[in-house]
Amino acid sequence: MTRRDGSNGENDRPQSMTDHDTTDQASTADEAASTGRTFPFTAIVDQAEMKRALVLNAVNPDVGGVLIRGERGTAKSTAVRALVEVLPEIEAVADCPYGCPPDDHDRMCSDCRERHDADEDLPVETRPMRVVDLPLNASEDRVVGSIDLERAVQAGEREFEPGILAEANRNVLYVDEVNLLDDHIVDVLLDAAAMGENIVEREGVSFRHPSEFILVGTMNPEEGDLRPQLLDRFGLVVDVEGVTEVDDRVEISRRRAAFEADPDAFRIEYADEQATLREDIVAARERLDDVALDDTIARLIAGMNIELDVDGHRGDITLRRAARTLAAFEGEDEVTARTVRHVARMALEHRLQRLPFEEEDQDVMSVFHDVRRELDLED
Ligand SMILES: [Zn+2]
Repeated sequence: MTRRDGSNGENDRPQSMTDHDTTDQASTADEAASTGRTFPFTAIVDQAEMKRALVLNAVNPDVGGVLIRGERGTAKSTAVRALVEVLPEIEAVADCPYGCPPDDHDRMCSDCRERHDADEDLPVETRPMRVVDLPLNASEDRVVGSIDLERAVQAGEREFEPGILAEANRNVLYVDEVNLLDDHIVDVLLDAAAMGENIVEREGVSFRHPSEFILVGTMNPEEGDLRPQLLDRFGLVVDVEGVTEVDDRVEISRRRAAFEADPDAFRIEYADEQATLREDIVAARERLDDVALDDTIARLIAGMNIELDVDGHRGDITLRRAARTLAAFEGEDEVTARTVRHVARMALEHRLQRLPFEEEDQDVMSVFHDVRRELDLED
């Protein structure tokens, strides 16, 4: 399945809906959100690239997040919200605002680490991962958290009010319309995403806590671009397009109607597929460290980055990670050229330099095939 179409008939969308993502699949998901029921990830029609990019991040957050670009009516936010249901549950310290992992000393906040080192029995709970929204109008304090300076100075105590980056730790952080987000907030966000840590400094007082999250942004390119230097910091970027296949549109309508008529029955229909996908993601996480990437594949990836004139090493690193993650998800022991082919565009296309007078843009896929042939690799 290689089609990349798949939008969802926004013409017959109910007039009353006023959110940003206006697909049938999206509106069903939004309606369901109010009843606590989510449209199943595996019931989203087509959109293979978008689903693959989300699943790769679910398996391996080090892939670096994903930006999904598409017009209204392409089921972007539906897919993001549906993703959590196929993510594995996590064990967390129950009374910690950052939900620290109870057994991983290196990824704990300073409080949990101290308690752990003092042999305190940390209360543990198993919980599902969540989608934490970052609204466009959020202030910097709301995002990073705030330090009560008065208290810090007077009592010598560190009083920290956790923000969205605290909630996002070990969850999915979702920014709809990320291209409209204040530049400064985007910088803060991407810094935290890169370091896995949020550091707040106010007048010489500083506080830090773990903030590892899967960053997912969506945007409609018609409403403005993202700065190139920010674009480059998303691991993967996928462009989703509207549905042009009649069969797909019919199927989208059918599923939407079925979901609206009886969400519980509809979700039961997809329960097996959902469970299988969740198991595959868990298995891939466990297999990931053992996936080999041999020298020829490393040369393929490096060669593509050179040929495409990708700045810095982020392109190499991301493509390697994405390819290893896909191999793990597909149950493979090693990365092949085929694995690279399936993730090359989403890992590299947004890193190409667009020169203003260049007649033709470099094409990731044709460069892939050129370099692959030079190396005598099977596709
Ligand atoms: Zn903690």
